[in-house]
Amino acid sequence: MSNNPFAGVRYIWMNGELRDFENAKVHVLTHALHYGSGLFEGIRCYDTRQGPAVLRLQEHLKRLENSCKVYRMEIPYDRAQLTEAVFDTIGSNEMRACYIRPLIFRGFGLPGINPLPLPVEVVIAVWAWGKYLGDAADQGVDVCVSSWRRSAPQSSPAVAKATANYLNSQLVKMEAIANGYAEGIALDIHGSVSEGSGENLFLVQDGVLVTPPMGSSILPGITRDAVITLARDLGIAVREDIVPRGLLYTCDEMFFTGTAVEITPIRSVDRVTVGAGKPGPITKRLMAEFHGIVKGEIPDRHGWLSPVQPVSAGMSEKLEKVEA
Ligand code: PMP
Repeated sequence: MSNNPFAGVRYIWMNGELRDFENAKVHVLTHALHYGSGLFEGIRCYDTRQGPAVLRLQEHLKRLENSCKVYRMEIPYDRAQLTEAVFDTIGSNEMRACYIRPLIFRGFGLPGINPLPLPVEVVIAVWAWGKYLGDAADQGVDVCVSSWRRSAPQSSPAVAKATANYLNSQLVKMEAIANGYAEGIALDIHGSVSEGSGENLFLVQDGVLVTPPMGSSILPGITRDAVITLARDLGIAVREDIVPRGLLYTCDEMFFTGTAVEITPIRSVDRVTVGAGKPGPITKRLMAEFHGIVKGEIPDRHGWLSPVQPVSAGMSEKLEKVEA
């Protein structure tokens, strides 16, 4: 496979139509480019034994709607239309396993900060994406605690997945890379553990799974929710609780969760080995359960997988015209 994740991507869904990859463009004076007025999602489609299926599509679209609500952005498409658009984007690109990126943003129109008069634009792209933190990530990654803090909830609400929040994430990520780590963990403004630059965090302490609560400036991760649900199914005790930094160095197991990283074990923090320095038993059980479900090898008992539907009649007609 090519190293370019965009190789083989032919179409991008943009404002109700499928555009050629090269023609999915915006004006340089687009508001979102200047003022960060974008809300987005990251979703995965898995090539299950029963065919390609999108993981927790409705939950991701719901979070996207919530993000837009916070920023008073009205999405010009309803849930059913966005669902169809996701399937049309996957289908027209003939993807099986892929990452899906819906993005809603304020477009071009007027100068100035006020976003309200500006058009709301909608884009959905797909691409092939493997292990986000490297091919060896399943064996555990080395991370650090960042000197950067997550934004205060009264400044930039973490509950909205806003493009602007990812400047903070970029500071965390770049510092980690500069110091030779795969990823950084940010503390919140009170000094409690929050999350990674693009992942939620879980610890195992004496057999109990612990994860920072919503109040610690975390994105309400959909993989986080899945892991909490699976842990309860497996009889593992789960606590959403404030995590003091010190626990990072004393816990038995630790891992990240996220659409891109799925479940990625952490083997050291600030060069201090976590547990035995390899994926622990609870981490491994949760990984096996999660991967079993997304591969279609374990029954989808929570109804998390939406089988990819064929390209809609309306869109395939439009495509035929474009290609004629
Ligand atoms: N936190 C941040 C900052 C993220 O960017 C992500 C990735 N979307 C997550 C947590 C994990 O969320 P999810 O499991 O919904 O992908």
